[in-house]
Amino acid sequence: MNEILKEDLKNLELILNQVKAEGLEFLDGIDRRPTSVKNREIANCDLEEYGSGALAALAEFKSRFDETIVASTGPRYWGFVTGGSTPAAIAGDWLATVYDQNTQTIKGQGDISANIELETVRLLLQLLGLPDEDYLGGFVTGATMSNFTCLAVARQWLGMQNGRDIAREGVSGTLNVLSAMPHSSSVKSLALLGFGSQNLIKVKVMPGNREAIDLNDLEKQISKLKGQPFILISSGGTVNTVDFDDFEGILRLKDKYHFWWHIDAAFGAFAACAPAYRHLLKGWEEADSITVDCHKWLNVPYENAFFLVKKEHRLLQIASFQNSNAPYLGDPLENFNYLNFLPENSRRLKALPAWFSLKAYGAKGYQDIVESCIARAQELAAFMEEEDAFELLAPVRLNTVCFSLKGEAYKDQVFEYLRVLNDKGVVFMTPTIYDGRQAIRAAFVNWRTTNDDVLIAIDSLRQALKSL
Ligand SMILES: *Cc1c(COP(=O)(O)O)cnc(C)c1O
Repeated sequence: MNEILKEDLKNLELILNQVKAEGLEFLDGIDRRPTSVKNREIANCDLEEYGSGALAALAEFKSRFDETIVASTGPRYWGFVTGGSTPAAIAGDWLATVYDQNTQTIKGQGDISANIELETVRLLLQLLGLPDEDYLGGFVTGATMSNFTCLAVARQWLGMQNGRDIAREGVSGTLNVLSAMPHSSSVKSLALLGFGSQNLIKVKVMPGNREAIDLNDLEKQISKLKGQPFILISSGGTVNTVDFDDFEGILRLKDKYHFWWHIDAAFGAFAACAPAYRHLLKGWEEADSITVDCHKWLNVPYENAFFLVKKEHRLLQIASFQNSNAPYLGDPLENFNYLNFLPENSRRLKALPAWFSLKAYGAKGYQDIVESCIARAQELAAFMEEEDAFELLAPVRLNTVCFSLKGEAYKDQVFEYLRVLNDKGVVFMTPTIYDGRQAIRAAFVNWRTTNDDVLIAIDSLRQALKSL
């Protein structure tokens, strides 16, 4: 054994204690750590012939990179849709690294940790109020890969409607995909899967400051297809204003038309945890496939999301992802192997942080997190409505505040204002274009965020105004 490795093995307890101390110091200071750092040069460093051991690596890392690590897991990082990590999720994630399983199968010899993943999926289905027997689920790196996985199966389904096995034969002919407000990652998935991103058929959104699909226009677009099958990508929460497509309306169309129904509910799925908002998802249990992110509102560390595909489509899923070295034998769900159902072959026990967090906090824990985030969004929105300088661009439908600076004079200065705000490092938000206007988006999904954080952010929002 290499001498330095030998030494590290001997020092393992010391190393892990040191990492724990570093982790605690970081988390204890998360309130004070900046949410943004200015660009800075990072000096190059070269590989050395002899390494320095884990403790020295940790010390060097801290001295060179600590200042570049932002409080994205902290309570005032409201950019994109950024979750934090619950204590139990961190515990699960650390152990997933320590155990280092290669999660594929549920029985036989060797690693059978896929059982833990399947159990976690069942817990998640129960959390979200979805039927726990209908869907097969698995973990991937994020909602992007979840959309990719679901749309790959949808593509196979679409081909099969015309007798084509796209996974074997490749893409040819027209593949109809309809959507009103798809997330950019769905469009990216269409590009990767050979649909061609420009071939997406855009459906109108409803009138009146909405981002949800207009079902009348949808039917109009469907009639142009003259009976051809298609894929519908619907939104369970758009990113700007968290508008939901009318799932019950879409469900009625399922009786009339032949289509694959995919829902991107990356973070909106968690509306199911709050009784007052559950109705937004009514009807979604009939979707063919659903995307849900875990590193957003479930508050587990990156990279974590899952897909759900109706079990009735399992042969299409296998046709899409089957690994030729691991043919399935007999019933694919009996002799289950994840590598035949999703993009990766080797994969970590990604479910473990979610398993820990679900066990630790239960349905009530997640109800509290979701309801608290919604309350925070409403508090910030109330400020936007009261304060002269700001304008709320859409009602707060769930957990996101989409706003801008009020008045013609400031309409081109919104992004500059946001740059100043973000530079202060107290709160972080992201720019967006809404209804053709420069706008700002604050999304609340972090379990730590309190009313005090909203007040601290409001102070910083006011301060940043002074520099306009
Ligand atoms: C965040 C998000 C995605 C992409 O998710 P990643 O986890 O970044 O891959 C897709 N859809 C929606 C609605 C999202 O909010």
